[in-house]
Amino acid sequence: MRKPFIASNWKLHKTKEEAREFLNSFREKVKYVSDVEIGLGPTFTSLGTVSDGIEGTGIKLCAQNVYFEDEGAFTGEVSPEMLSELGTDYVIVGHSERRQIFGEEDRTINKKIHAVFEHGMKPILCIGETEKQRASGETESVLKSQLKNDLDGVTSHQAGKMVIAYEPIWAIGTGESASPEDAQAGCKFARDQVKKIVGNEAGENVRLQYGGSIKPHNAEVLMSQPDIDGGLVGSASLDPESFADIITITEEL
Ligand code: PEP
Repeated sequence: MRKPFIASNWKLHKTKEEAREFLNSFREKVKYVSDVEIGLGPTFTSLGTVSDGIEGTGIKLCAQNVYFEDEGAFTGEVSPEMLSELGTDYVIVGHSERRQIFGEEDRTINKKIHAVFEHGMKPILCIGETEKQRASGETESVLKSQLKNDLDGVTSHQAGKMVIAYEPIWAIGTGESASPEDAQAGCKFARDQVKKIVGNEAGENVRLQYGGSIKPHNAEVLMSQPDIDGGLVGSASLDPESFADIITITEEL
């Protein structure tokens, strides 16, 4: 039985003060939620504040990125150990904004996944196709190649514990989510690939999130799909009320 996991990705939003304000209201709204795992993904500078603010709540701390080396001359980077020291549970790896804006390649993403596991955290690996790739019928080949390269060397035990977020790039931040059928098809395809690459057990255990313009009004139909085990939420996670609504709608399914 896979427990649904709804995580926020605040991207480059919220100061520490704003994160505190969010928590004051959000904690109250989700205090009785027990059947959905909740994650919060603040910026690096707010990780400590959020870590303190969620103590004793069961809410998980998610970092948005990491570097794969432990230390050294890597100006501007943050190591897995530094994230782990702050109480980080999950690290988002390979988000399309990192791939597209910062030129992150599968080779780097694969190293990050290994580094996250080595430091006792779990990756949330993001995969997804562009609008152009979708229009030319390449969705499955893109997902297949991303998973093959990103999961290289990942064991069955590790893969079963990780999270994969299927995020069609054309649905991110656009207000236009994928249809429930397309979101389900992407997640099912990703699960089947994990079975082929790492093994059946890992494929059954891995949690597949859908991401791309999840809002309270479409949460029910998206989260009730059989291969969708939760969501990665950007814009709608900035507001405590709409993020809590998505979580409580999922809990009631
Ligand atoms: C995201 O960036 O991971 C995301 C899903 O954003 P949004 O919910 O705003 O589409």
